[in-house]
Amino acid sequence: MTLTKKPETRPAPNSWGLVGGEDPWEYAPAPEATDHIRIEPEYGLFIGNEFRRSKPRKTFTVINPATEEPLAKVAHASRADVDRAVRTAREAHRTDWSKLPGRERAKYLYRIARLMQERSREFAVVESMNSGKPIKESRDVDVPLAAAHFFYYAGWADKLEYAFPNRDPKPLGVVAQIIPWNFPLLMLAWKIAPALAAGNTVVLKPASTTPLTAYLFADVVRQADLPPGVVNIITGPGEIGMELVKHPDVNKVAFTGSTAVGKMIARAVAGSDKKVTLELGGKAANIVFDDAPLDQAIEGIINGIYFNQGEVCCAGSRLFVQESVYEPLIDKLKARLSTLRVGDPLDKNTDVGAINSAGQLAKVQELVESGIAEGAEIFQPDCELPTRGFFFRPTLFTGVSQSHRIAQEEIFGPVLSVLTFRTPDEAIEKANNTPYGLSAGVWTEKGSRIFKMVNAMRAGVVWANTFNRFDPTSPFGGYKESGYGREGGVHGLGAYLDLSGDGRNGR
Ligand code: NDP
Repeated sequence: MTLTKKPETRPAPNSWGLVGGEDPWEYAPAPEATDHIRIEPEYGLFIGNEFRRSKPRKTFTVINPATEEPLAKVAHASRADVDRAVRTAREAHRTDWSKLPGRERAKYLYRIARLMQERSREFAVVESMNSGKPIKESRDVDVPLAAAHFFYYAGWADKLEYAFPNRDPKPLGVVAQIIPWNFPLLMLAWKIAPALAAGNTVVLKPASTTPLTAYLFADVVRQADLPPGVVNIITGPGEIGMELVKHPDVNKVAFTGSTAVGKMIARAVAGSDKKVTLELGGKAANIVFDDAPLDQAIEGIINGIYFNQGEVCCAGSRLFVQESVYEPLIDKLKARLSTLRVGDPLDKNTDVGAINSAGQLAKVQELVESGIAEGAEIFQPDCELPTRGFFFRPTLFTGVSQSHRIAQEEIFGPVLSVLTFRTPDEAIEKANNTPYGLSAGVWTEKGSRIFKMVNAMRAGVVWANTFNRFDPTSPFGGYKESGYGREGGVHGLGAYLDLSGDGRNGR
């Protein structure tokens, strides 16, 4: 008897030789060690280079989103503490920081940058434990980029007149900075480095779920011997952030977070002479033309939306595909999605870690349910999720129309909405059909098409044949409901300076 083996019908492999759902390599767990870090049981407010209890003493607990276990207690600042921090920053500005020549300020910034590099493993592990992001991202992106911002702005500290010729640049004074939980250390660096280089002192409020790398940074501030009061860090809920924004002795407010809170801040400072920069939400279009190298584009799409669990203001959350390449692209995308590893953020093989909080996970789930209810087709790879912690499968929606909530609202999670187009003009019209305008991506071989698209899209940053690239020298910021002002580069430095030359702001 002859036995004939039935031919296997299998989908085409992707560029990695992998077929969707297939796991040819069993990765052994590769957890990063945690014995080199020290998380204190309790952190006070960092004011005047000392950790102080809040008055009255009150704390809240910070957890690890991947395990739901407590990491530390942190001080819950009161209105009086906000005032204490602002007064300390004012005094440090008056007596020390504003009197130092730029080259001396630069030395401190270089010192901070080098200490961050030296302690990069500590920063990376604490950041992953507290935020849920994969260690390979905190290690290779967040921490090196944060240090790079200090190096970059250190270089400008003694060249302000050169950066802004004939403008007599002067510091603003005391700066209030409020940062979110998606890039806790990196947003701290985006805010503090240019502020100090320009000669300001700061009071920073990290997000309540992710203050731990800010407190580790406070330790670096002391190690660098920064004069007391130049950097102050306070923790507490949103209302404490608003107290800081409204404090009469604050000269500038820099905020990154949701559009809703950004609008509240804009209203709160209206009518005052406080300067404001707002870096808010986004719903970026990532546009793939039929002449694009598809395998490269797949990597850009994956990086665009699944990097940092999609908790990225400039995430490429709306994918626009030219109709003629829709089918091969979707096949490749599904196959690639199936290779993503979801799980322990401290495992070096993990691609998608934990969502930052139960609240954010619920928001993602609610929007995904709305996508299904509104008729889009969902695809999720068949991966196992850890039983504890706030995890969500990388998700892809096809059959999405412009009016669906998943095409309009910022999801801030690993969820991609795919739409199609036929002509460049249609792509432009659809891409700009959003209240946001932070970033966008274009994939095409044709240079002239790149220029056309870049000019036509209402987005602060447009990447061509790449996505989510960051560099301290390059300005970043939005149009429309994505906010105003720029961070990064010389533009980001100017945002912390009085360039009017009329002697205001106590100089
Ligand atoms: P928020 O805008 O509420 O939080 C960002 C920062 O603002 C945190 O430090 C927060 O403090 C603080 N804050 C909150 N309320 C106020 C207030 N009234 N006055 C001053 N500061 C305040 O974002 P969420 O954490 O609520 O996230 C909600 C959504 O916002 C996300 O789902 C996402 O869509 C978007 N988002 C966008 C970000 C971006 O980078 N563009 C970053 C984060 C969120 P606390 O943590 O104590 O509440």
